[in-house]
Amino acid sequence: MENKNNENNDSCAPKCLMVGGQAVIEGVMMRGNGMVATAVRDADGHITVNANESKSISDRYPILKKPLLRGVVALFESLVLGLRSLSYSAQMTGEEDDQLSDKELAGTMAVALVLAVVLFVAIPTGAAKLFHTVTENPVVLNFIEGLLRLAIFLGYLFAISRMHDIYRVFQFHGAEHKTIHAYEHGGPLTVENVQRFSRFHPRCGTAFLLIVMIVSIFVFAFLGWPDIITRILSRVLLLPVVAGISYEIIRIAGTSKNSIVHLATLPGLWLQRLTTNEPGTEMVETAIASLAAVLPERERERMGIKTLPANVTITSDDEASSADKNKTTNENSETSAIPEVQ
Ligand SMILES: [Zn+2]
Repeated sequence: MENKNNENNDSCAPKCLMVGGQAVIEGVMMRGNGMVATAVRDADGHITVNANESKSISDRYPILKKPLLRGVVALFESLVLGLRSLSYSAQMTGEEDDQLSDKELAGTMAVALVLAVVLFVAIPTGAAKLFHTVTENPVVLNFIEGLLRLAIFLGYLFAISRMHDIYRVFQFHGAEHKTIHAYEHGGPLTVENVQRFSRFHPRCGTAFLLIVMIVSIFVFAFLGWPDIITRILSRVLLLPVVAGISYEIIRIAGTSKNSIVHLATLPGLWLQRLTTNEPGTEMVETAIASLAAVLPERERERMGIKTLPANVTITSDDEASSADKNKTTNENSETSAIPEVQ
C-alpha cells in the first residue's frame, strides 16, 4: 500500500500486483491494476479479450477502504463485474443475443438474491425450528441452523459440479487459478509453466463463501431465537457484517505464514476439488491472454510476454476511455479491494 498507484501483493516476492478473476462461459475474467478483462475463446481457437478500466467506488469515497467496509464493497463490486463478464461471454458464445443492460443486470441480481435468501436463509432457519422440541437454547438452535446452511451449500456445489455444462466452466476456473499462481510465483506466463501450478488457490471465492458460512454461525448466535420473519430479516441485514468479517479473515490468511492460519485455509482448498477441474492447453492460453490484458507493460515483460499471440484480439467497450487514460493514471488509483480469485 506504500505504492500509490497499485496495491502490491504481499503474498509474492518480488512484489507483484494484486490480481483476481473468475471463470466465465468458454473463458476467463481477470482484474487488477484498475483494469478488468474478459477473454473468451471461440470454437476456431480465436481468443477475444474485452479489456476496460474499472474504477472502484472506494477511490471516490476513501472511507470505504476501512476494514470491514472494504469487504462489503469488494463483494458487491466483484458480483457486479462478475455478472457483466458472464453476460459478455454468453453473448460472445451465442448463448445470449444482447449484453445485459444495467436494468437487466439489476433484475438478474435481484432474482439471484431472492433465490439465495430462500435457499440459504429461509430453509435452514425454518428447518432448525424443527429441533425446537429438543432444545430451546438459542445458541444451539443457531448452531444447528448454521450446519444446515453449510450442508445445503455443499450439496448445491456438489450438484452443480455434476452438471455437464459446468464441467468446462470449472476447467476454466482451474486455468484462472493456475495462471494467477504462476504470476504470483514470478512467471513466466507460458502454458507449460502455468500448467505446473496447483488449480487450488487460497483466495478463491469458494473458500470465501465457506468462511462466510462459518462466520455467520458465530455472528447469528448472538441474536437469540425470535420469530421466523425476524430471523430471516436479521440474517439478511447482517450479511454485510458477516461478509466484512470474512473478508478480513481471508485477507489475513492470504498473507500469513502462520501454520494455524494455514490449517484454517485447508477446507477452502479442499472444496475447490469440486469447483475446479484440470484445464486443457487452450484454456490456459485464454487465462494468460486475459491476465496479460490487465497487466502494465513492465509486468508483461517480466512475465516473458513480449507480443500477443496471433490468435488473440484485444477490444475495449469505450474508445474514449483509452483516450482518458493519461489523465486517470496520474490520479491516485490505489484500490483497497483485493480482487477475489473466484
Ligand atoms: Zn476460484
